[in-house]
Amino acid sequence: MTKGKHEITGVPPHILEILRKKRNGHELSREEIKHLVLGHTRGEIPDHQAAAWLKAAHVRGLSPAETAHLTDAMLHSGELIDPISLGKKAVDKHSTGGVGDKTSLILAPLVAAGGLAVPMISGRGLGHTGGTLDKLEAIPGFRVDLSIAEFTRVLEQCGCAMIGQTAEIAPADRKLYQLRHFTSTIDSPALICASIMSKKLAEGIDALVLDVKTGSGAFMKLEEDAALLGELMVDTAKRMGVRAVALITDMDQPLGCKIGNALEVEEVLDVLRGNGPADLRDLTMTLAAWMFHLGERTATVEAGEHLARELVASGAALAKFRRMIELQGGDGKVIDDPMRLPQAKFRAEIASASSGFISAMECEQIGHASVLIGGGREYEHDAVDHAVGFVLHKKIGDPVAAGESLCTVLYNSEDRMARVRETLTSSFVVTPDPPPTRGATVRRVIRDN
Ligand code: URA
Repeated sequence: MTKGKHEITGVPPHILEILRKKRNGHELSREEIKHLVLGHTRGEIPDHQAAAWLKAAHVRGLSPAETAHLTDAMLHSGELIDPISLGKKAVDKHSTGGVGDKTSLILAPLVAAGGLAVPMISGRGLGHTGGTLDKLEAIPGFRVDLSIAEFTRVLEQCGCAMIGQTAEIAPADRKLYQLRHFTSTIDSPALICASIMSKKLAEGIDALVLDVKTGSGAFMKLEEDAALLGELMVDTAKRMGVRAVALITDMDQPLGCKIGNALEVEEVLDVLRGNGPADLRDLTMTLAAWMFHLGERTATVEAGEHLARELVASGAALAKFRRMIELQGGDGKVIDDPMRLPQAKFRAEIASASSGFISAMECEQIGHASVLIGGGREYEHDAVDHAVGFVLHKKIGDPVAAGESLCTVLYNSEDRMARVRETLTSSFVVTPDPPPTRGATVRRVIRDN
């Protein structure tokens, strides 16, 4: 743990001049951005002036250099984790959010089993997308609220640790994110990039693999928008001395077959045992391969993938997952007996009204249904029901007969079940002819060279 905080030195730039400059579309210097961010974090620059800057930045945009300055200022507004003392390269993966995306839970123990450190700070479900912390909390006893000192201790003992955002990490982002919410300035690529990257780089990592989702279940529906954000994040990492790659990946349908917190932990265990759905397994192995390669554990990405598959086959990745669960206060016996995970009381089938082929899925709608059944939060302080969710029996391209089950719903409330039935039924698009063959899950790779 290092005290990485920036201090403002010399004559501070005048805030009104900073606001004028950005409003008129000029590029701000590193010092000006630092003054604004640190001044706001400390309460010396009021919300209304920070909001004026956010609005100007949203309308005028930020240059790549300004985006990196903003990331750097936000990163240094708080404490930095120092995994260098572990004597290993530290790597992480960040996903922009999807439905059924449980790759983080597989990657942390898998990559740690391969000898790299994985200090993972994750988030909760946002909108229709699931959150890593909610999934981890499906494991009885698992603590995601470790202090930084406890987090570092778990990292030392098993090479990986997974926690939520703490008050000490990038506090500037916490304040600015809230203001962005209230000033309708969330959807700026530069502001999104700085927000994500400041929190990830505070982990003190050497390399970062970005999984930028695109498609009907992603925040960025268009591949071009996803690629632009990927390029910006890779460029920002490079400017800050961290190796990065962005994989633009398909989110036109949920990843894997299980959606819902405990169900997703079950599917994680399947993959760590060498089973599980092919799309989830393959994407996870590709992400692990890049983590091994960028973390200099393997000379090539191909060798990284080979190593990842070996670590699953040998049981080393599963053993590491058990160790991390136990070190973080969780019930390690769920590994041998997934029935120890929360179980829903009821189940129901969603049947297809017609015969044909699944030609598309309304993936965002499935994510919203997962929130409605109780697996996510409609309002910030809602409790999450870890037991509920869906098991998909059909994915895009599969044949289906009228009356056949498209998915099983596991639920605890008839009321909630009634709310999702229609949404789920209309989320599967059935056509008489099969859809065109789908391309690979990884649509593009954006590298830092
Ligand atoms: N996730 C973040 O952490 N920040 C954003 O701005 C958007 C998504």
